[in-house]
Amino acid sequence: MTSLLSSSSFSSASASASARRVARGVSPLRGSSSARSRSSSSRSRSAARPLLPSLQAIMNSSGSGSSSSDVLVDMQELRDTALDAIRTIGYSANDAAVLLDVMMYAQMRGNNQGIIKITTNGLARNEDATPMRVEHDTATCARINGNREVGMAVLYRATEMAVQKAKSAGVGIVGTHNTSTSTGALGYYCRQAAKQGVICLAFAQSPEFVAPYGSKEALFGTNPIAAGFPTSDTSSPLVMDLATSAYALFGLLEAKTAGRKIPEGVAQDAAGRVTTDPSEVLDGGAIRVFDGGHKGSSLALLVELLGGALTNAAIEDKKAKKSWGNLVVCIDPKQLGWTADEFQRRVDTVCRRVKKCEPLPDHGEILLPGERGDRVEDANERAGSIEVEANLWKDLQDMAAKAPPRDSADSATAPSSIFAASSGGMPESNGAPSTSRGTGKDSWGMDTRLVHPTDPCDDPYAAVAPPLYQTATFKQPDAVSMGPYDYTRSGNPTRAQLEHHIAELEGGDRGFAFASGMAALTAVTRIVRSGETILAGDDIYGGTSRLLGSVLPKQDINVVHVVMSDLDAVESALNKNKVKLLMLESPTNPRMQVIDLQRISAMAKKANPDTVICVDNSIMAPVYQRPLDLGADVSMTSATKFIAGHSDVTAGLLTTKGKELGDEIYFHQNSEGTAASPFDCWLSIRGIKTMKLRMDKQSDNAMKIARFLEKHPLVSRVHYPGLETHANHDVQRRQASGYGSLLSFNTHDVNASRAICEKSKLFKITVSFGSVSSLISMPCFMSHASIPAEVRAERGLTDDLVRISAGIEDAEDLIADLKEVMDEYLMETTGKPADVSASRSVEELEARESWLLERIRELESKVKTSN
Ligand SMILES: *Cc1c(COP(=O)(O)O)cnc(C)c1O
Repeated sequence: MTSLLSSSSFSSASASASARRVARGVSPLRGSSSARSRSSSSRSRSAARPLLPSLQAIMNSSGSGSSSSDVLVDMQELRDTALDAIRTIGYSANDAAVLLDVMMYAQMRGNNQGIIKITTNGLARNEDATPMRVEHDTATCARINGNREVGMAVLYRATEMAVQKAKSAGVGIVGTHNTSTSTGALGYYCRQAAKQGVICLAFAQSPEFVAPYGSKEALFGTNPIAAGFPTSDTSSPLVMDLATSAYALFGLLEAKTAGRKIPEGVAQDAAGRVTTDPSEVLDGGAIRVFDGGHKGSSLALLVELLGGALTNAAIEDKKAKKSWGNLVVCIDPKQLGWTADEFQRRVDTVCRRVKKCEPLPDHGEILLPGERGDRVEDANERAGSIEVEANLWKDLQDMAAKAPPRDSADSATAPSSIFAASSGGMPESNGAPSTSRGTGKDSWGMDTRLVHPTDPCDDPYAAVAPPLYQTATFKQPDAVSMGPYDYTRSGNPTRAQLEHHIAELEGGDRGFAFASGMAALTAVTRIVRSGETILAGDDIYGGTSRLLGSVLPKQDINVVHVVMSDLDAVESALNKNKVKLLMLESPTNPRMQVIDLQRISAMAKKANPDTVICVDNSIMAPVYQRPLDLGADVSMTSATKFIAGHSDVTAGLLTTKGKELGDEIYFHQNSEGTAASPFDCWLSIRGIKTMKLRMDKQSDNAMKIARFLEKHPLVSRVHYPGLETHANHDVQRRQASGYGSLLSFNTHDVNASRAICEKSKLFKITVSFGSVSSLISMPCFMSHASIPAEVRAERGLTDDLVRISAGIEDAEDLIADLKEVMDEYLMETTGKPADVSASRSVEELEARESWLLERIRELESKVKTSN
């Protein structure tokens, strides 16, 4: 509904910085002509035309008095309060931060697309919303089905994708459809994209409120167009944002509730006659296009086609269908041969020339698009406080008071994403590591951060490879004082280096290295006491399953399992049990289910803010997924896998958020003596440096193997989150930046599975994964054998399942190896080569047979004629 509420005509009325009255603490009354004052007594209910629910709410919410005033609110307080208020609607911390950022953009610029949306139901969640889905995706283009999620989050995601595509492929074009809530000020998205150095165009199509030129009937939405261009001042791109309508719907509603007239010529009544009565417009009339002529009408049509027809949004009966569309187009100026600097300078030149044009005698300074808003924003920024309408502020505070307590995941008031570095430098909190670049260490890419850890030990010789402190004890300075280290169980400099590095990589407050992944997980379970409950998934690592099933029950700890991919089941389990510890894995192993970590973490905190959320991140490792950013309190990575990477270490790493949790984990690490040895830490430190190279190659190989298996007749099903056919492919794309080396598949034939494992030459039969060498296993007989057979059956872990961890070998060799074994098995058991498998239908077989006979006849006839 971007377009519905977007109008330069209304926003400029309230945007003049000089006209702003500041009321410190007190709330002086505004004049009755104030655009913001609303009179409840004059609220008319005569509009026969059904309005959209959120607009109805705006009309109904008129604060408590007959006139209103502004109060000056500290900026941070406003952000905090607004964020809490949004959280009461049920959004995750990151979504809430996105919504807040979009609305604050408008608020700061004195535009009416601001935080009023929070209190007027403009952000109401659709009951039937499901996670948005990328339903079409190429190197340059994508289409997102918003699945009725909140419009701002969907357009934000679309803009991120378009920017990423423009940066990697030169252009990025992303369409969205199936949302029916406001996307806020369209200029916001263009600015975020332009700050990344790309040109951005955005179009928003919406329901029928505007008449085509010469018509009585409303057909277009207010259909705005926005554009952003990078300038030499990277923090301040040139942004234009214009509705193609002459007036905003929001302005119309405001005028109606205030009993005011609208300007002459911007709208018409049901008969098509110009009217200044907003009720007549709402009652079957229409707003006109901005110039009242064919040019405005053409631009509105352009938006209708690009934002609607192209994106799969509704193009008929739009009000009822509630599927509105947006299109974002990003272009990297490098595609036209410019360096970033050159193009920005050319934009500067054009802007400077426009500004320097001699003004008309009765016209003041020539303003560039957005310049007025920029100044208001700057002034607000400098003041550190902002005027907010008093009733709105009160409503917001009332709403925020009902918010559940915050955990540290909720503390970010700016969204995390590829835009983060430029929108205020907040930490990234999208699980996928950021791709934005700055100059500080925090903005380094993952590849760089893996190679350049901070050295917490201050090595006097600055050794490039850190020293190995292979010692159990440390001599103390004297008999009554202690040096930094005394005994390796309590602390060791080599271990400290690794612990510090993992905390740095995952954004944790503290890191810990344990003797194994299981020792690390065991330490986490120490926070649970007898009688308390752990909630865990159904498809979990075998060792974890044994810990939860056979060890913890001895201490009277309750363990409840739930199908983690079923969000309803998870929610009811969270509400039914007072969960002390929630243990998540994603993707799961071996069935490779992807769990929405952010959604579930938010649910858990909502059900019980004290629940500690632990994510076993062994399969993605911090290279591809950062659980603490997705709402977890603890993240565990088995260093035995990708971190060490060469099958020569057993170790497990934990990162934690918050002091209390960190202290408790340290207490147990020290008390129970479960820390990793210095040498294993040293090997892990060395492994980390090449981890991304290895993981990228392994993921690449896994993808190629998955595609091969998918087509092989011996295979009935492939489980790999990188495949578009994977049920939660989109969730994986959203929360992680890679798909990993692990995949599994079914053959429905235990003997076939066995033959594949035993006869392939390059795949070593081993448990574990993440090694440079390709590994293969049958989980039900190996890593998951500790799970009782009936439980396995219940969890869909069938005996024929084969798991592969792709190594760093040549993908073609790996595929050829598998193909040879699989084709041979087929030949032996069915007597048919791989491409004529028993699994084909009779019709297919007959067709192939007749084709072969035909081909033989053809060849025979050739042989005859050539003789
Ligand atoms: C390997 C693994 C563990 C256990 O780690 P160890 O280092 O073997 O103790 C835990 N969870 C997952 C998902 C694993 O793959």
